[in-house]
Amino acid sequence: MNPLYSTYPVHIENSLTGAKEQLVPVSEGRIGMYVCGPTVYSDVHLGNARTFTSFDFIFRYLSHLGYKVRYVRNITDAGHLENDADEGEDKIAKKARLEQLEPMEIVQRYTVDFHKVMDRLGALPPSIEPTATGHIVEQIEMTQAIIDKGWAYESNGSVYFDVDAYNRDGGDYGVLSGRKMDELQSGSRALDGQEEKRNPADFALWKKASPAHIMRWPSPWSVGFPGWHLECSAMSTKYLGEEFDIHGGGMDLKFPHHECEIAQNTATSGKKGAKYWLHANMLTLNGKRMSKSTGNTILPGELFSGNNPLLAKGFRPSVVRFFMMQAHYSSVLDFSNEALLAAEKGHDKLLAAWSKLQGLEASGSGDFDLQAWIDKCYQSLSDNFNSPILIAHLFEAIKLINQNEGSIALSASDLSVFKEKMNAFVFDILGLQMEEGGSAHSEALDKAMDLVIELRAKARENKDWGTADLIRDQLSAAGIKLKDGAEGTSYEI
Ligand code: AMP
Ligand code: ZN
Repeated sequence: MNPLYSTYPVHIENSLTGAKEQLVPVSEGRIGMYVCGPTVYSDVHLGNARTFTSFDFIFRYLSHLGYKVRYVRNITDAGHLENDADEGEDKIAKKARLEQLEPMEIVQRYTVDFHKVMDRLGALPPSIEPTATGHIVEQIEMTQAIIDKGWAYESNGSVYFDVDAYNRDGGDYGVLSGRKMDELQSGSRALDGQEEKRNPADFALWKKASPAHIMRWPSPWSVGFPGWHLECSAMSTKYLGEEFDIHGGGMDLKFPHHECEIAQNTATSGKKGAKYWLHANMLTLNGKRMSKSTGNTILPGELFSGNNPLLAKGFRPSVVRFFMMQAHYSSVLDFSNEALLAAEKGHDKLLAAWSKLQGLEASGSGDFDLQAWIDKCYQSLSDNFNSPILIAHLFEAIKLINQNEGSIALSASDLSVFKEKMNAFVFDILGLQMEEGGSAHSEALDKAMDLVIELRAKARENKDWGTADLIRDQLSAAGIKLKDGAEGTSYEI
């Protein structure tokens, strides 16, 4: 039998060409995918989580189609400086200094947090998760290779990529972002250390460590540390080769991070690294990009518990994932309590229909064209991973499920194919999760809790403090916390 990927060939929007192209893997049946991982100096916020969830969905779909996917997502544990620039303090070292901890304690704490959050959001672990500090040797080798080609130079113990020399020799720095050299030169800010560079557009491959910089390694040029852009080139080449299939990250990484990666890869091997460069769009809050540096963030943990003034209540991780999947990965998605409430309704309706489907009997064929529906679902996914269109098709299927009580207008063999495909789309590909007891359970709990909260309010109205306290304390002992707010009382487990 043909693998699913040949029945439903994937088309992918390639930032490198600006076009939708058919995915033709470097090696038949195999996909190498690299995604820039988190810089582990603080809790991942919901925006970061959106990008990683988008690529988890893409990983899940490609695997489902029958590709053997090697998915590499790194951990940036050194070299990422403040303001994403070539100067300033290392983000991890700064946090370590403020908290009087070892940098590796910071790395450990936030790597563990990141894994927990992604696990709750139903993301599968990548095949390889390399760290920047574990690949210093490879980064030094790559820097040397670029110096040997004449496209990098040493200056005061640091090494910079020579953008002018590279482009003069036929290089195409600017190919991804579309930026022209004169814009790049005038656009670079006057930062400390710029005097080491021949051209303001040049970027660091290796930086000499100042006496205060504690994360440092010996190299032929100085005791120092690698440039942030270089890490991803070194690690993707090591695990996926000089030419692989997909490179992903958030839109904000397109320039300069990915532009620099492409230049480094091409300077070293003559190849750009990935054939297809994919960018997940931003999650916004109040219309502005969710960003750690501006403090405009919500943490996934706050969303799960409801512990944030922007939220009326907590949301299950699978609901949060559904909220993300309702938008195409390349569209901006704005966060709000209302949007989450709407997503919760849709999520619970979908999972309730799935639960109902499990108990339905086949009543013989009706007019639902199952094969046409399956084709539409796959075609939407193969069309640049269009999850919102897939979800629209799943809602058509809900109508069929809810048409009759107890039975469904499908033949017995179609019913079993239908169930199998619903499982694949809802759980294996979208990555939703059926909480213990199912969605019906949580709806029932919500209703029961509404009643308990009302009884407690009545007790308080009657100044029956004993009963009110008893309710609160007994719930607390059972792990349910009541939260009194301006909008009334809510609960969190
Ligand atoms: P960082 O840890 O800062 O390197 O970011 C990790 C990933 O999160 C990168 O791929 C970023 O592009 C992505 N990212 C950062 N902010 C947002 C946002 N508001 N929405 C979506 N992705 C984001
Ligand atoms: Zn990267």
